[in-house]
Amino acid sequence: MLRYLSHTIFYLIVLLPLPSAAALRVFACEPEWAALVGELAGDKVKVDTATRPSQDPHYVQARPSLISKVRRADLLVCTGAGLEAGWLPLLLRKGNNKRILAGHPGHLMIADTVQLKEKPVELDRSEGDVHAAGNPHLQTDPRNMLPAAAAIVDRLAQLDPDNATAYRENLAMFSDRWQEAVLEWQLMAIPLQGMPVVVYHRSWVYLQYWLGLKEVASLEPKPGIPPGSRYLADVLSRTQELPGLVIIHSQYQESKAIEWFSGKTGAPVVLLPSTVGGTPEAKDLFSWYENIISRLLKASGRGDD
Ligand SMILES: [Zn+2]
Repeated sequence: MLRYLSHTIFYLIVLLPLPSAAALRVFACEPEWAALVGELAGDKVKVDTATRPSQDPHYVQARPSLISKVRRADLLVCTGAGLEAGWLPLLLRKGNNKRILAGHPGHLMIADTVQLKEKPVELDRSEGDVHAAGNPHLQTDPRNMLPAAAAIVDRLAQLDPDNATAYRENLAMFSDRWQEAVLEWQLMAIPLQGMPVVVYHRSWVYLQYWLGLKEVASLEPKPGIPPGSRYLADVLSRTQELPGLVIIHSQYQESKAIEWFSGKTGAPVVLLPSTVGGTPEAKDLFSWYENIISRLLKASGRGDD
Protein backbone atom coordinates (compact mmCIF):
# COMPACT_ATOMS: atom_id res chain seq x y z
CA MET A 1 0.00 0.00 0.00
CA LEU A 2 2.74 2.35 1.05
CA ARG A 3 4.71 1.50 -2.03
CA TYR A 4 1.63 2.11 -4.20
CA LEU A 5 1.11 5.49 -2.52
CA SER A 6 4.71 6.58 -2.99
CA HIS A 7 4.45 5.57 -6.65
CA THR A 8 1.31 7.62 -7.02
CA ILE A 9 2.94 10.61 -5.41
CA PHE A 10 5.98 10.15 -7.63
CA TYR A 11 3.86 10.13 -10.79
CA LEU A 12 1.80 13.03 -9.58
CA ILE A 13 4.91 15.09 -9.10
CA VAL A 14 6.41 14.10 -12.44
CA LEU A 15 3.28 14.40 -14.53
CA LEU A 16 1.69 17.51 -13.11
CA PRO A 17 2.46 20.49 -15.29
CA LEU A 18 5.08 22.59 -13.62
CA PRO A 19 4.55 26.32 -13.49
CA SER A 20 6.69 27.85 -16.22
CA ALA A 21 9.96 29.28 -14.96
CA ALA A 22 9.45 32.74 -13.53
CA ALA A 23 10.39 35.50 -15.96
CA LEU A 24 13.63 37.34 -15.29
CA ARG A 25 13.22 40.65 -13.58
CA VAL A 26 15.19 43.54 -15.02
CA PHE A 27 15.72 46.84 -13.25
CA ALA A 28 16.56 49.56 -15.78
CA CYS A 29 17.81 52.90 -14.51
CA GLU A 30 16.57 54.90 -17.53
CA PRO A 31 13.63 54.44 -19.93
CA GLU A 32 15.89 53.90 -22.97
CA TRP A 33 17.41 50.77 -21.42
CA ALA A 34 13.97 49.50 -20.46
CA ALA A 35 12.92 50.01 -24.10
CA LEU A 36 16.03 48.26 -25.42
CA VAL A 37 15.51 45.28 -23.09
CA GLY A 38 11.92 45.20 -24.30
CA GLU A 39 13.08 44.99 -27.94
CA LEU A 40 15.45 42.13 -27.11
CA ALA A 41 13.50 40.07 -24.60
CA GLY A 42 9.82 40.86 -25.22
CA ASP A 43 7.61 39.18 -22.66
CA LYS A 44 10.35 36.84 -21.43
CA VAL A 45 11.32 39.44 -18.84
CA LYS A 46 9.59 41.89 -16.56
CA VAL A 47 11.15 45.33 -16.58
CA ASP A 48 11.02 47.99 -13.88
CA THR A 49 12.33 51.47 -14.67
CA ALA A 50 13.85 53.69 -12.01
CA THR A 51 13.27 57.01 -13.73
CA ARG A 52 10.41 58.50 -15.67
CA PRO A 53 11.19 60.43 -18.88
CA SER A 54 10.34 63.66 -17.07
CA GLN A 55 13.04 63.06 -14.45
CA ASP A 56 16.66 64.11 -14.65
CA PRO A 57 18.58 60.84 -14.25
CA HIS A 58 21.35 62.67 -12.39
CA TYR A 59 18.94 63.38 -9.54
CA VAL A 60 16.55 60.68 -8.38
CA GLN A 61 15.22 59.84 -4.93
CA ALA A 62 15.93 56.36 -3.58
CA ARG A 63 12.24 55.82 -2.78
CA PRO A 64 11.08 52.67 -0.90
CA SER A 65 9.19 51.48 -3.99
CA LEU A 66 12.47 51.51 -5.93
CA ILE A 67 14.27 49.63 -3.18
CA SER A 68 11.77 46.78 -3.33
CA LYS A 69 12.21 46.59 -7.12
CA VAL A 70 15.98 46.46 -6.71
CA ARG A 71 15.57 43.70 -4.13
CA ARG A 72 13.83 41.34 -6.56
CA ALA A 73 15.82 42.17 -9.72
CA ASP A 74 17.91 39.57 -11.54
CA LEU A 75 19.57 42.07 -13.87
CA LEU A 76 20.42 45.74 -13.43
CA VAL A 77 20.87 47.78 -16.64
CA CYS A 78 22.08 51.33 -16.07
CA THR A 79 24.08 53.94 -17.97
CA GLY A 80 26.95 54.16 -15.48
CA ALA A 81 29.84 56.62 -15.91
CA GLY A 82 28.56 58.43 -12.83
CA LEU A 83 25.13 59.31 -14.25
CA GLU A 84 23.42 57.55 -11.34
CA ALA A 85 26.19 58.32 -8.80
CA GLY A 86 23.82 60.39 -6.67
CA TRP A 87 21.29 57.64 -6.03
CA LEU A 88 22.14 54.16 -7.35
CA PRO A 89 24.78 53.27 -4.71
CA LEU A 90 22.23 54.01 -1.97
CA LEU A 91 19.54 51.96 -3.75
CA LEU A 92 21.91 49.02 -4.12
CA ARG A 93 22.94 49.22 -0.49
CA LYS A 94 19.35 49.32 0.74
CA GLY A 95 18.19 46.70 -1.77
CA ASN A 96 20.82 44.29 -0.46
CA ASN A 97 20.60 42.05 -3.54
CA LYS A 98 23.90 40.37 -4.27
CA ARG A 99 22.81 39.22 -7.76
CA ILE A 100 22.96 42.74 -9.18
CA LEU A 101 26.05 44.07 -7.42
CA ALA A 102 29.20 45.00 -9.34
CA GLY A 103 31.17 41.94 -10.41
CA HIS A 104 28.07 39.74 -10.76
CA PRO A 105 26.44 38.81 -14.09
CA GLY A 106 23.33 40.73 -13.03
CA HIS A 107 25.19 44.06 -12.99
CA LEU A 108 25.48 45.79 -16.35
CA MET A 109 26.67 49.35 -16.92
CA ILE A 110 26.27 50.35 -20.58
CA ALA A 111 29.09 52.90 -20.28
CA ASP A 112 31.46 49.94 -19.99
CA THR A 113 30.43 48.73 -23.46
CA VAL A 114 30.89 51.96 -25.47
CA GLN A 115 33.58 54.54 -26.05
CA LEU A 116 33.01 57.26 -23.47
CA LYS A 117 33.56 60.89 -24.44
CA GLU A 118 35.26 63.53 -22.29
CA LYS A 119 36.77 60.95 -20.02
CA PRO A 120 39.04 62.84 -17.61
CA VAL A 121 42.57 61.86 -16.76
CA GLU A 122 41.72 62.45 -13.12
CA LEU A 123 38.36 62.26 -11.34
CA ASP A 124 37.48 65.64 -9.84
CA ARG A 125 34.07 66.42 -8.36
CA SER A 126 35.36 69.27 -6.23
CA GLU A 127 33.31 71.88 -8.08
CA GLY A 128 30.14 69.79 -8.22
CA ASP A 129 30.74 68.70 -11.80
CA VAL A 130 28.31 65.80 -12.39
CA HIS A 131 30.31 64.62 -15.44
CA ALA A 132 33.52 64.09 -13.52
CA ALA A 133 33.83 60.49 -14.77
CA GLY A 134 33.28 61.45 -18.44
CA ASN A 135 30.14 62.43 -20.33
CA PRO A 136 27.49 59.83 -19.43
CA HIS A 137 24.76 60.90 -21.93
CA LEU A 138 25.83 58.24 -24.39
CA GLN A 139 22.27 57.27 -25.39
CA THR A 140 22.03 60.28 -27.71
CA ASP A 141 24.14 58.49 -30.34
CA PRO A 142 21.98 55.60 -31.63
CA ARG A 143 25.06 53.72 -32.77
CA ASN A 144 25.79 53.08 -29.09
CA MET A 145 22.62 50.98 -28.93
CA LEU A 146 24.33 48.14 -30.83
CA PRO A 147 27.10 47.31 -28.32
CA ALA A 148 24.57 47.98 -25.56
CA ALA A 149 22.14 45.48 -27.09
CA ALA A 150 24.86 42.85 -27.51
CA ALA A 151 25.91 43.25 -23.87
CA ILE A 152 22.32 43.00 -22.65
CA VAL A 153 21.74 39.82 -24.66
CA ASP A 154 24.95 38.28 -23.30
CA ARG A 155 23.71 38.81 -19.77
CA LEU A 156 20.16 37.65 -20.51
CA ALA A 157 21.53 34.46 -22.09
CA GLN A 158 23.79 33.87 -19.12
CA LEU A 159 21.03 34.40 -16.56
CA ASP A 160 18.30 32.60 -18.51
CA PRO A 161 20.05 29.95 -20.67
CA ASP A 162 16.74 28.27 -21.61
CA ASN A 163 15.85 31.31 -23.71
CA ALA A 164 19.38 32.11 -24.93
CA THR A 165 18.61 31.18 -28.54
CA ALA A 166 15.55 33.40 -28.62
CA TYR A 167 17.51 36.34 -27.19
CA ARG A 168 20.25 35.91 -29.79
CA GLU A 169 17.72 35.72 -32.61
CA ASN A 170 16.07 38.89 -31.35
CA LEU A 171 19.47 40.59 -31.24
CA ALA A 172 20.20 39.68 -34.86
CA MET A 173 16.82 41.01 -36.00
CA PHE A 174 17.12 44.16 -33.92
CA SER A 175 20.65 44.89 -35.16
CA ASP A 176 19.54 44.63 -38.80
CA ARG A 177 16.56 46.93 -38.31
CA TRP A 178 18.66 49.33 -36.24
CA GLN A 179 21.50 49.67 -38.75
CA GLU A 180 18.98 50.42 -41.46
CA ALA A 181 17.28 53.03 -39.30
CA VAL A 182 20.59 54.70 -38.40
CA LEU A 183 21.39 55.10 -42.11
CA GLU A 184 17.96 56.67 -42.73
CA TRP A 185 18.41 59.09 -39.84
CA GLN A 186 21.83 60.09 -41.12
CA LEU A 187 20.34 60.91 -44.52
CA MET A 188 17.53 62.89 -42.88
CA ALA A 189 20.05 64.84 -40.82
CA ILE A 190 22.45 65.88 -43.59
CA PRO A 191 21.10 69.49 -43.58
CA LEU A 192 22.01 69.75 -39.88
CA GLN A 193 25.74 69.35 -40.43
CA GLY A 194 27.72 72.24 -38.98
CA MET A 195 24.68 73.78 -37.27
CA PRO A 196 25.77 75.87 -34.26
CA VAL A 197 23.97 74.95 -31.04
CA VAL A 198 23.88 76.25 -27.51
CA VAL A 199 22.87 73.58 -25.01
CA TYR A 200 21.58 74.01 -21.50
CA HIS A 201 23.27 70.93 -20.03
CA ARG A 202 25.97 69.04 -21.88
CA SER A 203 23.59 66.14 -22.59
CA TRP A 204 24.05 66.10 -26.34
CA VAL A 205 27.75 65.67 -27.05
CA TYR A 206 27.21 62.18 -28.52
CA LEU A 207 24.39 63.44 -30.76
CA GLN A 208 26.49 66.43 -31.82
CA TYR A 209 29.37 64.15 -32.72
CA TRP A 210 27.09 61.77 -34.63
CA LEU A 211 25.32 64.44 -36.70
CA GLY A 212 28.12 67.00 -36.95
CA LEU A 213 26.42 69.73 -34.92
CA LYS A 214 28.68 72.37 -33.45
CA GLU A 215 28.26 73.12 -29.74
CA VAL A 216 29.33 76.73 -29.23
CA ALA A 217 28.38 77.03 -25.55
CA SER A 218 26.46 75.47 -22.68
CA LEU A 219 24.32 77.64 -20.44
CA GLU A 220 25.56 75.71 -17.40
CA PRO A 221 29.15 76.79 -16.69
CA LYS A 222 29.86 73.20 -15.59
CA PRO A 223 27.55 70.19 -15.80
CA GLY A 224 25.14 70.42 -12.87
CA ILE A 225 26.02 74.02 -11.96
CA PRO A 226 23.28 76.60 -12.71
CA PRO A 227 24.47 79.71 -14.55
CA GLY A 228 25.07 83.08 -12.96
CA SER A 229 24.45 86.39 -14.72
CA ARG A 230 28.12 87.10 -15.41
CA TYR A 231 28.65 83.74 -17.03
CA LEU A 232 25.52 84.18 -19.17
CA ALA A 233 26.62 87.64 -20.27
CA ASP A 234 29.91 86.15 -21.37
CA VAL A 235 28.18 83.37 -23.37
CA LEU A 236 25.94 86.01 -24.96
CA SER A 237 28.85 88.14 -26.05
CA ARG A 238 30.50 85.11 -27.66
CA THR A 239 27.45 83.86 -29.53
CA GLN A 240 25.23 86.86 -30.25
CA GLU A 241 26.29 87.30 -33.84
CA LEU A 242 26.20 83.62 -34.84
CA PRO A 243 23.80 83.03 -37.71
CA GLY A 244 21.50 80.02 -37.51
CA LEU A 245 22.04 79.38 -33.82
CA VAL A 246 19.63 76.95 -32.10
CA ILE A 247 19.20 76.42 -28.34
CA ILE A 248 18.73 72.82 -27.21
CA HIS A 249 17.36 71.49 -23.96
CA SER A 250 15.70 68.28 -22.87
CA GLN A 251 12.32 67.75 -21.24
CA TYR A 252 13.56 68.08 -17.64
CA GLN A 253 15.77 71.12 -18.23
CA GLU A 254 13.41 74.06 -17.86
CA SER A 255 15.32 77.19 -17.01
CA LYS A 256 14.84 80.93 -17.05
CA ALA A 257 18.33 81.16 -18.52
CA ILE A 258 17.06 79.47 -21.72
CA GLU A 259 14.24 82.00 -22.15
CA TRP A 260 16.53 84.89 -21.36
CA PHE A 261 19.16 83.72 -23.79
CA SER A 262 16.63 83.12 -26.55
CA GLY A 263 15.13 86.56 -25.96
CA LYS A 264 18.53 88.20 -26.29
CA THR A 265 19.74 86.28 -29.34
CA GLY A 266 16.46 85.55 -31.11
CA ALA A 267 17.64 81.95 -31.46
CA PRO A 268 14.86 79.35 -31.50
CA VAL A 269 14.59 76.98 -28.54
CA VAL A 270 14.12 73.30 -29.31
CA LEU A 271 13.12 70.68 -26.78
CA LEU A 272 14.71 67.33 -27.62
CA PRO A 273 13.58 64.11 -25.94
CA SER A 274 16.56 62.71 -24.04
CA THR A 275 14.89 59.33 -23.79
CA VAL A 276 11.92 57.26 -24.96
CA GLY A 277 8.80 59.07 -23.77
CA GLY A 278 10.56 62.43 -23.50
CA THR A 279 8.09 63.87 -26.04
CA PRO A 280 4.69 62.48 -27.10
CA GLU A 281 6.16 61.47 -30.48
CA ALA A 282 9.07 59.50 -28.96
CA LYS A 283 7.01 56.38 -28.36
CA ASP A 284 9.75 53.77 -28.81
CA LEU A 285 13.46 53.60 -29.60
CA PHE A 286 12.90 54.16 -33.32
CA SER A 287 10.46 57.08 -33.14
CA TRP A 288 12.60 58.67 -30.44
CA TYR A 289 15.66 59.36 -32.67
CA GLU A 290 13.44 60.23 -35.60
CA ASN A 291 11.74 62.81 -33.42
CA ILE A 292 15.06 64.31 -32.31
CA ILE A 293 16.05 64.87 -35.93
CA SER A 294 12.61 66.11 -37.01
CA ARG A 295 12.57 68.65 -34.20
CA LEU A 296 16.06 69.89 -35.05
CA LEU A 297 15.18 70.24 -38.73
CA LYS A 298 11.97 72.10 -37.90
CA ALA A 299 13.59 74.48 -35.39
CA SER A 300 16.53 75.28 -37.64
CA GLY A 301 14.50 75.71 -40.81
CA ARG A 302 17.14 73.58 -42.51
CA GLY A 303 14.75 70.83 -43.55
CA ASP A 304 12.37 73.06 -45.49
CA ASP A 305 13.54 72.53 -49.05
ZN1 LIG B 1 24.73 65.27 -17.36
